[in-house]
Amino acid sequence: MRIDPHTHTTASDGTSSPTLLMDEAAAAGVTMLGLTDHDTVAGWDEAAARVCNTGVALIRGMEVSAAYRGISVHILAYLFDPTYPALVRHVTKVRTSRVDRAQQIVERLSNDLPITWEQVEVQITEGATIGRPHIADALVSIGAAKDRSEAFEYHLNARGPYYVPYYAPQAADAIEWIRAAGGQAVFAHPMAPHRGRIVPMEAFDELAEAGLFGVEVNHRDNPSAVIPQLKAIAQRLDLARFGASDYHGLGKPNRLGENTTSPAVIEALIRSCQLEVLCP
Ligand code: AMP
Ligand code: ZN
Ligand code: FE
Ligand code: FE
Repeated sequence: MRIDPHTHTTASDGTSSPTLLMDEAAAAGVTMLGLTDHDTVAGWDEAAARVCNTGVALIRGMEVSAAYRGISVHILAYLFDPTYPALVRHVTKVRTSRVDRAQQIVERLSNDLPITWEQVEVQITEGATIGRPHIADALVSIGAAKDRSEAFEYHLNARGPYYVPYYAPQAADAIEWIRAAGGQAVFAHPMAPHRGRIVPMEAFDELAEAGLFGVEVNHRDNPSAVIPQLKAIAQRLDLARFGASDYHGLGKPNRLGENTTSPAVIEALIRSCQLEVLCP
């Protein structure tokens, strides 16, 4: 068993279609894959249609953009009812806000660079959740950066001059809706330094209180020095320990299956969720 429960496709800011992602997962030896696009379930059906052909089991998920005391956090939602009204309402609002915000970032960038909104629009798959990576692709297309990583170093940096935030619900609320929708919530890459500010320790206690199921410990953006600390937090608060690649296709160096989650944790997740894993 090789379980990689956190990946992205062209339904948000990954570069592989859901079909291609499933094929790539099979080629990488991943036996069970979690599809967790940002604030959307738009990739679910296409990925589901590849389960039998690829032999890769599919965990349907979503990465919810949220906030903890003004700090941006990502909450992975797994195996939930995608029609649950509060969750649908809020992720729809997030997606809309992401469009306004992307336009504002491009507006700011255009003061210093020859970039237009049209150049960003052509980077986005119809209906996808827009994010800074699409602006990065436009910056690459005009020769202002060599790849997404370089565009994020300065032009799209959260601490840089062009950054604009977007609407995101409170993390504790998101966790409650995910659970009410029959799913479970996992705190994604909680210690990723380049994302902006890191949450204070009490955030884990509060989110555990709100019903958090697990925390992503093995993720390349968590500095190795904090892994023991994350393990201790998980142990103390009885949170399941996840590991995943956060694969974005060609957009990031992250490789499928580079971090994985144990079968025991995934069995516990499945037992406590409403939606089934789709098996070949
Ligand atoms: P946004 O959702 O618009 O705030 O943009 C954040 C997204 O950009 C996340 O999904 C990250 O995976 C992606 N991202 C962050 N840093 C980088 C980077 N250095 N290279 C490529 N993608 C990145
Ligand atoms: Zn992303
Ligand atoms: Fe994330
Ligand atoms: Fe992610």
